[in-house]
Amino acid sequence: MSKHLRVAIVGAGPAGIYAGNILHTKYPDVSIDLFDTLPAPYGLIRYGVAPDHPRIKGIVNSLHEMLDEGTIRFYGNVTFGTDITVADIREHYHAVIFATGAIKDAQLNIPGIDLRGSYGAADFVNWYDGHPDVPRSWPLNAQQVAVLGNGNVALDVARVLAKQADDMLTTDIPANVYEGLAASPATDVHVFGRRGPGQIKFTPIELRELGEQHEVDLVVYDEDFPEGWFNPEAEGVTNQQKVMARILESWRGRALTGAKRRLHLHFFSSPVEILGADGRVEGIRFERTELVDGTENVRGTGNFVEFPVQAVYRAIGYFGSELPEIPFNDKRGVISNVEGRVVDESGAVIPGLYATGWIKRGPIGLIGHTKSDATETIEHLISDLANLVDPEHPEPGSLIDELDARGVQYTTWNGWLTLNEHEIALGASDSSHVERERVKVVDRDEQVAISRRG
Ligand code: NAP
Repeated sequence: MSKHLRVAIVGAGPAGIYAGNILHTKYPDVSIDLFDTLPAPYGLIRYGVAPDHPRIKGIVNSLHEMLDEGTIRFYGNVTFGTDITVADIREHYHAVIFATGAIKDAQLNIPGIDLRGSYGAADFVNWYDGHPDVPRSWPLNAQQVAVLGNGNVALDVARVLAKQADDMLTTDIPANVYEGLAASPATDVHVFGRRGPGQIKFTPIELRELGEQHEVDLVVYDEDFPEGWFNPEAEGVTNQQKVMARILESWRGRALTGAKRRLHLHFFSSPVEILGADGRVEGIRFERTELVDGTENVRGTGNFVEFPVQAVYRAIGYFGSELPEIPFNDKRGVISNVEGRVVDESGAVIPGLYATGWIKRGPIGLIGHTKSDATETIEHLISDLANLVDPEHPEPGSLIDELDARGVQYTTWNGWLTLNEHEIALGASDSSHVERERVKVVDRDEQVAISRRG
């Protein structure tokens, strides 16, 4: 006979919601409570995907359906470690799955990284996505900007910095973000990759769209394309790489049109120092690199180049955050785990604790990849059923009663439906005369207040 299982999931982004949905499909006799530190669900989709990427934001629709079925209960504005603890989990659930993602910027240890005007991409992304816990204003006062990294986050950051603010008006950006972008004096946004054009980590759609921005000229440089830089016949070359090579080739020799802004792609440029004066960014120095024969790796050439820039954004990868009482691998920025089973320092599995998504495997891969990842974790959880300890208080209302008693202002799925309608109504009544699907509420207290009146 199957036992009725109670599982908590911490993190209501795609990883957590997919995990809940897969668990319910594979093991229907389960009650799932989904907690998030933010008042609204959807994690990275609400606060990580660029506002002008509605196609990716559209994943929300399927996540919405999964939560709307009612088999997963959502509790927002609940922080693991303060509002609920491991002891609470043990008392009320058979197991917990951590799906807290990776939201910090990876460090770049070069001189000048702490100068004013040097930023992590994650912070900027949070700002333009209206994250409640970051300041409302962003110092967009640079004419020339460097973006470090050749992944999709670098492309998001560069595109948002180069784009005309009015072209963002159809998106869900809050008013403060529109005003900040509209006031930006940026003329040139330079994206730098430390390896070559054949080693980029972009994806084709995102790369192509860079060359299609209104009032933005795209510039690439011949010196970054050595003879035979891309061999479509080489072993292991993917179709995606072939498409991207064609896109890059099509941009070579493109004439400037006199657009208001220019977006430059540079390769073989490894950052060595951010240059400053009076504590502010004034420029950036790179060592030029070259491919090591027959490999995808580069080495320094001993030649250095400098660019005058007043702001530097590092988009060199995200990094996970440690959770109280949960073993953490601080080199990789992930919860210590083997295929999603959390392990202690000695490598022994800690029963009842699981991880999925970026906090399990690191910040690599597209949103869809979290599904296969969640499947692996859930399969382990189900095969561990016999070892999961029955909680002392499995009653569905017991932890929620405790949250009430502790004065935690949690939000619920119904609360999200109210906030969702509110944001859609804000979009409809926006005075900018363009059709807006929604306008996000930024302030945490305001989100909570609107959600709790639902
Ligand atoms: P990423 O794809 O891993 O790219 C990181 C980039 O930073 C790489 O080009 C890497 O170069 C570079 N880098 C790392 N350390 C560096 C250093 N010390 N100096 C200079 N460059 C350095 O990471 P991401 O851009 O943060 O994206 C994370 C994941 O989210 C990816 O899977 C991405 O596709 C996905 N994503 C998708 C979208 C979308 O629109 N579809 C948007 C955002 C993010 P090397 O290659 O040489 O290591």
